[in-house]
Amino acid sequence: MRSLEEIDIAGRRVFIRADLNVPLDGGRITDATRIEATLPTIRWVLDHGGLPIVASHLGRPKGRPRPELSLRPVAEHLSRALRVPVELAPDCVGEAVERLATELRPGHILVLENLRFHPEEEKNDPAFAERLAHLADVYVDDAFGAAHRAHASTAGMARFFRDRAAGFLLRREVDFLSRLLAAPEKPFVAVLGGAKVSDKIGVLENLLARVQTFCIGGAMAYTFLRAQRKPVGRSRVEEDKVALAAETLARAAARGVCVLLPVDHLAADRPEAGATARVVDADDFPADLLGVDIGPRTSEAFAREIAAGRTVLWNGPMGICEIDAFSQGTMAIARALTACRGTTVVGGGDSVAALARAGLLDAVTHVSTGGGASLEFLEGRALPGLAALDDGHPAQHAEASR
Ligand code: ADP
Ligand code: MG
Repeated sequence: MRSLEEIDIAGRRVFIRADLNVPLDGGRITDATRIEATLPTIRWVLDHGGLPIVASHLGRPKGRPRPELSLRPVAEHLSRALRVPVELAPDCVGEAVERLATELRPGHILVLENLRFHPEEEKNDPAFAERLAHLADVYVDDAFGAAHRAHASTAGMARFFRDRAAGFLLRREVDFLSRLLAAPEKPFVAVLGGAKVSDKIGVLENLLARVQTFCIGGAMAYTFLRAQRKPVGRSRVEEDKVALAAETLARAAARGVCVLLPVDHLAADRPEAGATARVVDADDFPADLLGVDIGPRTSEAFAREIAAGRTVLWNGPMGICEIDAFSQGTMAIARALTACRGTTVVGGGDSVAALARAGLLDAVTHVSTGGGASLEFLEGRALPGLAALDDGHPAQHAEASR
């Protein structure tokens, strides 16, 4: 996979597939993190004389134009952030858009309208991919968050270019996550939590051969505790995953991988703010309560492992951390990471949000913005968006010789 620096972009039109899928509230961007994250790539193209044509999806328009999901607020934000003129195209393909692309001047940016206004985008339609490719001379993919999707703009269009490269954000994500899988410094500690075993089991399985220690919290811990025949009261258990959890524990034991499960919990009468909650021992879980967070002894045990780790991955909150009273375990993990002197990587939308709430985003080595893409990468799966950038994958069209 080539990087942006390796490609001569001066005077050439550069299609930048970015992930600008920001949350909106009535046309106002409520969190611009994703835009900010891709700015270095766009700025590099501008600074090196390239003509950036920026494209993204936004929300779920389901294949038809929805004015409330226009990229206009994104285009305006880009213009303010980069202090350059930004034009929003009326669509992402078609004659009018091609004209704007041809007339694009140095120092200006063209933003294409929402890719998902066309159903062909998510279907990875080859003709649509070719029309998109027709707009530019160079293809740059910076949309790591969409790399697990085989869509026209993330996968299909790449083969029409001889010059295709990874943007800085995508490159950084791939570098950090591949280091976790390929050559993690030991001890490697993975702290996993969150809502469901089924979301994280693929990561757990793939990391089994790589980590020395798993710390498991969040709702998924209760399925594992049930597999150990421990009492969990009315906590959330995925009954159909108990057997799988038992197998995973057995495989970990056979490999000598240490699995830490909660030894105490914060148990509540209901999973809501204002509930009555108390710390309970894992062996005496009251039948009428449910687990909403790990307890203080568990937090300390997990924090000790994290402090001793040379590589630490955290994915998934330790409790219902959206509710302040149930967020202490998650916050303890966030703080422990900042005290760790090894490489610390945090992934997962809710975990990253918790880290942000604690004001600790800058205190870890790498924050993965990928969500689903990060999880699939850590599961060891090939991501279509990355495969399409592979230089071994030949350019397949006359267009590509440009
Ligand atoms: P991430 O987005 O970081 O990958 P997930 O989406 O897997 O994390 O999990 C986050 C969700 O898990 C949160 O909505 C949180 O409320 C929920 N959760 C964590 N612990 C519990 C628990 N003990 N009971 C119910 N839900 C929980
Ligand atoms: Mg989540």
